[in-house]
Amino acid sequence: MDAYRNSEDVPLLADAAKRAARYLETLDGRAVAPAAEAVEAVTRFAEPLPAGPTAPAETLRRLDEIGSPATMGMAGGRFFGFVVGGSYPVSVAANWLATAWDQNTGLWEVTPAVSQLEDVALDWMVELLGLPPGTGGAFVTGATLANFTALAAARHAVLTSAGWDVEGEGLFGAPPITVIVGDEVHPSVVKGLGLLGLGRRRVVRVATDGRGRMRPDRLPRIAGPTIVCVQAGNVNTGDYDPIADVCDAARPAGAWVHVDGAFGLWAAASPKLAPLVAGVSDADSWATDAHKWLNVPYDSGLAFVRDPEALRAAMAITAAYLPTETPRRNPSDYTPELSRRARGVEVWAVLRSLGRAGVAELIERCCRHALRFAEGLSAAGYEILTDVVLNQVLVSFGDDTATRRVIAAIQADGTCWAGVTVWQGRTAMRISVSSWATTDDDVERSLAAMIRIAGTAANQHDT
Ligand SMILES: *Cc1c(COP(=O)(O)O)cnc(C)c1O
Repeated sequence: MDAYRNSEDVPLLADAAKRAARYLETLDGRAVAPAAEAVEAVTRFAEPLPAGPTAPAETLRRLDEIGSPATMGMAGGRFFGFVVGGSYPVSVAANWLATAWDQNTGLWEVTPAVSQLEDVALDWMVELLGLPPGTGGAFVTGATLANFTALAAARHAVLTSAGWDVEGEGLFGAPPITVIVGDEVHPSVVKGLGLLGLGRRRVVRVATDGRGRMRPDRLPRIAGPTIVCVQAGNVNTGDYDPIADVCDAARPAGAWVHVDGAFGLWAAASPKLAPLVAGVSDADSWATDAHKWLNVPYDSGLAFVRDPEALRAAMAITAAYLPTETPRRNPSDYTPELSRRARGVEVWAVLRSLGRAGVAELIERCCRHALRFAEGLSAAGYEILTDVVLNQVLVSFGDDTATRRVIAAIQADGTCWAGVTVWQGRTAMRISVSSWATTDDDVERSLAAMIRIAGTAANQHDT
């Protein structure tokens, strides 16, 4: 069919695959941050709305020629900003095939292949993370929406226990819910609470310790409808709230415990690191990101809820969440979205190709790289601000101004990319290792660049 071929009779999709492969293969040879000229050139996209058609192949060529050079090298092995992960080739490939299928993943009967794949991926994830068998789940866009989705189930459950139908009656006149979070809660949890009408500001914040962990001795006494949000993986330190202690204190009092484990929950997939999440299976709900540490493409988050009926009650479009006769799990009964791409396909593809051992190896390898960064920078005389417990490293290059200057110089150099953070009042460079693509060689090259640049940039003065 002509629509799928370009003027040289090359299939359009093959052309896209070729361009994508070339992009990924040449990424290693260019600066991680895009060149200034490439960034300036993106204004070429800002042309008037075309009055008529353009050949699809020409549109793809333009996308590649202007777009590719102006990307940040997040898919490569030396991007350490935020906690973004990479994308395994098998997940990109599975994503392409599933995109071609164009399945509206709402109803099992209409989209059987992708619905079944999501069922399987969900079961595998529950098993891999050691969550209670029978846990329900939803494939959503990211941990922000996963937190929102799980907390909607929490709101349903605690208000149902208090005799209130929140889906039907809303929050006007409802019994108040106490929401408890750690002082270093991720802002996306707070945003989710706001969206759910639970208020961004009315949360009870529990003091944290010098590693960003909630102090269990500061937990308030729990009474009445209560949701406690703990964190598995602090975005700065990678450290963990005392999940077991919180569950022990909160659940007997009838509270719901939610775990934001956007990246840190993946420690559960490694027998070596699993002690970090001890007690996690005692919680009621969990949020994580597959687009972070499972290394699938955006956007891919997962919400898990111990009681699938609480999730269904909060998310199903009809009020018919009371036991129905549907023989199959309709994905849209568990997600905020109705129409949705089949995110579970890439999760399935990576889990199937790596297996349990492969996922554990990925997680452990990233943590080993993080330790090597800390060790190398410390040996060069730079201060590592906290113990490296997972995949996050915080390093200071002197005072705040010097640290910012060094980070800017590292970003401009292009060997690697890491960002600025402020942690407990101190400016630091945050190195996050979360991509399959990062090799030992990437770590050594990046480390050498950081130390070389810090040696010259730290002592320069602002002009
Ligand atoms: C990244 C992150 C989030 C938000 O996840 P998105 O996928 O960006 O929506 C929430 N909590 C923690 C701890 C995170 O690291």
